[in-house]
Amino acid sequence: MTTLTATQAADLVAANRILVRQGVLDAFGHVSMRAAPGADTFWLSRNLAPGSVTASDLIEHDLDGATDDPRKPYLERFIHAEIYRRRPDVMAVVHSHSPSVVPFSVVGTGLRPVLHMAGFLGGQATPVFEISDAAGDASDLLITSSSLGAALAGTLRDAPVALMRGHGSVAVGGSLQEVVYRAVYTEFNAHAQATALALGKPRYLSAGEAAAANATISGQAVRAWDVWCEQVRPDIPAGDRASGPGRE
Ligand SMILES: [Zn+2]
Repeated sequence: MTTLTATQAADLVAANRILVRQGVLDAFGHVSMRAAPGADTFWLSRNLAPGSVTASDLIEHDLDGATDDPRKPYLERFIHAEIYRRRPDVMAVVHSHSPSVVPFSVVGTGLRPVLHMAGFLGGQATPVFEISDAAGDASDLLITSSSLGAALAGTLRDAPVALMRGHGSVAVGGSLQEVVYRAVYTEFNAHAQATALALGKPRYLSAGEAAAANATISGQAVRAWDVWCEQVRPDIPAGDRASGPGRE
């Protein structure tokens, strides 16, 4: 068992609101975090639209997706549970159906970085999870069990992002701020890549460029977090607002 500090809870509330405002989440999708490195639990809202999440909605789950809280959990909490189980380095996870990313899950084109802000995607095409390999050809495409979550985590392996065919994507990070940045710029890159593909044959970032751009930009990501927090601040109940630069 872990406890979220007030700052961590405020940040997780802000992350929910930011991802809605940035067009990554809508009424569906979710974001979670570990309270401490190595924790074998994670924190995720109860079953609620992300734009409505407050600190009192955050629930601790174990790596089987179980919780002591009587309130209804998200159906797809197993995405988070199995990624945390497989990836001790991961401190936060976003699952979304963001609109520009979904098309790349159903064609063989491959999502690849077309701009420096998405260097974290690396020099290879982002892996695509094919659920029918694990669930047969009549599933509802949702990750509603530990075994399906483990299969998805097996496709993700050590990558920062995996696409889920006909469904959406999952992004992981070493912090809540990093995973929010990655989820936003995965959507941004997918839109830019689709635009480029309509114009001609894109030249993608090389592996070396992607790594170098990621090293430079990762130190700047906090700037995005701060301004995004500021934008969602008026929508968040006063007691649940994050503290820090430009915050209470
Ligand atoms: Zn989903």
